[in-house]
Amino acid sequence: MTHTPAPAAADIPTLVARLRATFDSGRTKPLARRLERLAALHSLLTEQAEAFQQALAADLGKSAAEAYRTEIGFTLNELDHTVAHLEEWLRPKPADVPGIFRPAEARVVRDPLGVVLVIAPWNYPLQLALAPLVGALAAGNTVVVKPSELAPATSATMARLLPRYLDPDTVAVVEGAVPETTALLEQRFDHIFYTGNGTVGRIVMAAAARHLTPVTLELGGKSPVVVEPGADLAVTARRIARGKFLNAGQTCVAPDYVLAIGESAAALEKQLADAVRELHGDDPAADPEYGRIVNDRHFDRLAALLGDGRVVTGGGHDRGERYIAPTVLADVSPDAPVMRAEIFGPILPIVAVPDLDAAIAFINERDKPLALYAFTESERTKRRLTEETSSGALSFGLPVSHLAMPDLPFGGVGESGMGRYHGEYSIETFSHAKAVVDKPLA
Ligand code: NAD
Repeated sequence: MTHTPAPAAADIPTLVARLRATFDSGRTKPLARRLERLAALHSLLTEQAEAFQQALAADLGKSAAEAYRTEIGFTLNELDHTVAHLEEWLRPKPADVPGIFRPAEARVVRDPLGVVLVIAPWNYPLQLALAPLVGALAAGNTVVVKPSELAPATSATMARLLPRYLDPDTVAVVEGAVPETTALLEQRFDHIFYTGNGTVGRIVMAAAARHLTPVTLELGGKSPVVVEPGADLAVTARRIARGKFLNAGQTCVAPDYVLAIGESAAALEKQLADAVRELHGDDPAADPEYGRIVNDRHFDRLAALLGDGRVVTGGGHDRGERYIAPTVLADVSPDAPVMRAEIFGPILPIVAVPDLDAAIAFINERDKPLALYAFTESERTKRRLTEETSSGALSFGLPVSHLAMPDLPFGGVGESGMGRYHGEYSIETFSHAKAVVDKPLA
């Protein structure tokens, strides 16, 4: 198997110039060519699924089933949905012409942007590199993909395999960390799509400003779960636990903490402990379906948070294995360190609040979350949360899964990001809506 070496930082201007030449040649634009590229990506994911599963196991201890479900299969769904609808999405959309200008026709045409840079993080290192790639290619662009250096096996596997399926003058993988990303950000791109933390998001946006390049920032933050008394707490706990402990809590839309209203706080403790046992058994360390923390730095950061409340379940950890047990903490103070920043690990604090007003105030005093979840039987509560809070997404009764619904926009607001993608929203992100007017000369 040949391995195309990753370009050194010094080669980056040449590489970007090559991708721009490809775009300028016009060959990325015809619908048939776009569909061919998407078909090649489909073959990559199906033929090389095992190689990716092995890489994801090495990087994050992801089981083969979880790697398939949340990374490979997820991207295939996005791909299939895009292929099924692309022609319709690209069709020029007729627009009304005011009487004063008639006779004339007007329409909106989707112009590809040019060369797109996708910068991906480590937590879903395949999905978060390739799902944006699907949209960028479908919209007719050339693309540089910069995988995360913190998921080195997945990064190397993408760098090795993508050029075997996709023309390297149309899609290039640049591996590396800060020096390589900094070198990339010096180049002029036509769109930069960044997923990761807000500190680097600011660096990306500042670099993009120099070239007036539009950005999508898919960031994170603390996504709350509101639980009201009266909700079925067994179902509630099961669904919260499933969303929280997936990928050992290293999911951008994972429930970060629970805002338990009134008496639901005490009742939820036992239910969450049961749900964790049901999901991962009495010894989650021995459950092959339970993942590991990505590196020692994140392990140490998380281990320091385990004392921030009364341990309801979990609390165990093993640095050598980078294992942290699925942990639920009760009696957590809103000022505790675990409540100050996104947890991004398998620790779930329960914060008790007296009523819905207090829950809404708690949410609105903090950064706008990437997702807000609520478990309630009350339509009035649903309406109030919809109207009185702002978040990237709002889901009643089902954490995390909205991101696997390709007709929904996926993205944040405020500190949780800007812009959105998936399905047709990716076409909007990676193309320009060009106004076209056509008035007859006679
Ligand atoms: P990370 O450390 O892998 O960084 C993301 C990317 O930024 C990497 O490709 C990295 O090389 C690059 N980078 C790092 N430092 C840089 C610098 N100084 N200059 C330029 N580029 C640099 O990932 P992370 O930030 O730890 O990811 C976790 C965060 O991402 C969490 O906050 C999580 O919520 C968020 N996230 C958001 C989404 C989403 O879709 N909204 C998805 C996953 C993760």
